[in-house]
Amino acid sequence: MVKIALQLSAALENLTGLAPADDDFKWFFKFKCSSCGEVPDKWQHISRSEEHEVKGGRGTANAVIKCKLCGRENSVDVIADSIREYGFADAGRFRQVAAFDCRGMEPVDFSPRDGWVVKGFKVSDDEEEEGSESGKVFDDVDLTEGEWADYDEVSEESVFISEIKHQFVKIK
Ligand SMILES: [Zn+2]
Repeated sequence: MVKIALQLSAALENLTGLAPADDDFKWFFKFKCSSCGEVPDKWQHISRSEEHEVKGGRGTANAVIKCKLCGRENSVDVIADSIREYGFADAGRFRQVAAFDCRGMEPVDFSPRDGWVVKGFKVSDDEEEEGSESGKVFDDVDLTEGEWADYDEVSEESVFISEIKHQFVKIK
């Protein structure tokens, strides 16, 4: 079993607290089978709200994926309490947004897609302070195109997410 953290880096303009909206959020990955090395060119999703039976009476997992090449049945879980918000102050730096328990496979690519939530953020005019949340919540943010824009009528600022990058890091 390998624990893998998904780290994101993004530029947030007048925004903070980027995170998946809820447990129904679908994390889309391409996986590499650890047994045979096969990397199917297909996006697979994992959701904390899904339970799939693992063969051999080994309980359930959030996703069970059978390798088409070697036939091994691999599985993955979203680790409880691993979800983190990506904040205004994190902009441009890689930060964990979630972590996964991987059995028999590892993610090699990630697609952010939709189902994100992010909060409006008013940058302070005072250089001593960072700023504060405007109170506006955008609750259906789609990052499929790699960037997203809207308008915060509370702070009266344009809001923008761009430069989304990801990396995978093994954790203990
Ligand atoms: Zn395989």
